[in-house]
Amino acid sequence: MSKIQMKTPLVELDGDEMTRVLWPLIKEKIIEPFVDLKTKYFDLGMKKRDETDDQITIDAANAIKKYGVGVKNATITPNQERVEEYDLKKQWKSPNGTIRAMLDGTVFRKPILVNNIEPAVKSWKKPIVVGRHAYGDVYKNAEIKAKTGGKAEIVFTDAQGNETRETIMELPGPGIIQGMHNTDASISSFARACFEYSLDEKIDCWFATKDTISKKYDQTFKIIFEDIFEKEYTEKFNTAGISFFYTLIDDVVARMMKAEGGILWACKNYDGDVMSDMVASAFGSLAMMSSVLVSPHGYYEYEAAHGTVQRHYYKHLKGEKTSTNAVALIFAWTGALKKRGELDNLPALISFADKLEKVVIDTIEDGYMTGDLAAICEPPAKQVLDSIQFLDELAQRLKK
Ligand code: NAP
Ligand code: MG
Repeated sequence: MSKIQMKTPLVELDGDEMTRVLWPLIKEKIIEPFVDLKTKYFDLGMKKRDETDDQITIDAANAIKKYGVGVKNATITPNQERVEEYDLKKQWKSPNGTIRAMLDGTVFRKPILVNNIEPAVKSWKKPIVVGRHAYGDVYKNAEIKAKTGGKAEIVFTDAQGNETRETIMELPGPGIIQGMHNTDASISSFARACFEYSLDEKIDCWFATKDTISKKYDQTFKIIFEDIFEKEYTEKFNTAGISFFYTLIDDVVARMMKAEGGILWACKNYDGDVMSDMVASAFGSLAMMSSVLVSPHGYYEYEAAHGTVQRHYYKHLKGEKTSTNAVALIFAWTGALKKRGELDNLPALISFADKLEKVVIDTIEDGYMTGDLAAICEPPAKQVLDSIQFLDELAQRLKK
C-alpha cells in the first residue's frame, strides 16, 4: 500500500510526562503506517525549555507562523515543586501562554461525543463548544503584593505623554493589587473568530461578561461583539438560521445547565479556562475534549485540552501499566492533518483523518476503551484496555 503524501510539514510540538510517552506511539501505530508524515519537530519538554531558556517555545511559535499549522502535546507549566523536581533555572512561563500571546486568537474546545456515555447534565444532547479568548486579561497581568497600606492607582500614559489616573483603593493595610489589559483589535478578532465558527458549524453563539460590574473593561467586550455582529453578521446568521445571544456570565451559566447544547459558548480568557474543564468533565472526560487555537492571521494550533496526566506518568515510571486515554491527542493530530489537507488541497489526507476519527468513535461505541471511559459508560465496557492496547486496537481496525 502506498502512503498518503503531504506537501507542507506540520509543526510538531512535543511535551512532557505521560503524554510524551503516548505521543510517538500514536505516530508510529496509527499515523505513519498510512501517511508519509512530514513534520518540523520542536521539543517543548521541560528539560529542553530549561536548557534553551525557553527559546525553543518561541522558535516553535514562529514556526507555526511560518508553516501555518501546528500540533502540540501537553506540557508542564512549572510551579515551585516542578522547579525542584526538574532542577530548573527558574519557574518558566506556561508554553501555552507564550504561544497564545504570539499567535493571538481564540481557542475552540469541542467535546468528542460517543453514544455510550451520557453527559452528567441530563439536558445536554449536542456538543457545547467553548470558544476561549486566548489573549490578555489575567494571563498577561502585572501584580503587586503591598507589604503595608498605601494608595493603589492605575496610570495610563498615551502616545503624547498625557497621563490618565484612577485610584483603585486607599489600602488600609497590606494587600494585593492587579493590573490587566486587552486590546480592541484582539477583542474584535475574538468576536469575528466566534461568529465565523458559529456559521461554519451552524450553531448559535452565546457570549457573556460581567458588564454590570465592570463598566469599562467588560462593557467594551460587549459593545465590540454587538457592533461587529450588527454590521457584519446579522444577515449571515439569519440566512443560516442561527442566532447570537448576549447575557451576564452568571446568567449564562444557569441557562447552560438547562440548554440542549449545539451552542458555541464564547468566553473571556479566564471564564474559558474554567468553563472548558467543567464542560469537558460533564460530557464525560477531560480526555474527550479537542482543542484548537485559531489565530486571526490564519494560523492553527491543535492540542488536547488536558495536561500531562502526571499521576499516570508516575505509575508508568514504576513499571505499572496505565489506562491513559489518547483520544484527545489523536484528535489533535487528525485536526491538524485535516487542516493541512484543506490548505494544501490533499483530499486523501482529509479522508484519512476522518476515517481515523470514525475508527476511534466506533471502537469506543463497540465497548473497547480506556479506564476513564469504562468508569462511566453504559452499557458496561466489553474490555478495559491499557494505553497501548487501545492504540493497537485502533491500528488493527484501521488496517481493515
Ligand atoms: P491533567 O494532566 O489534565 O490530569 C488530571 C487528571 O485528569 C488525571 O490525573 C486523570 O485523572 C485525568 N485525565 C486527564 N487526562 C487524561 C487522559 N488522557 N486519560 C485518562 N485520564 C486523564 O492535569 P494534572 O495532572 O493536574 O497536570 C499535570 C501537568 O499538566 C501540570 O504540570 C500542568 O501544568 C500541565 N497542564 C498542561 C496543559 C497543556 O499543556 N495544555 C493543560 C493543563 C495542565 P485520574 O488521575 O483520576 O485518572
Ligand atoms: Mg486550564
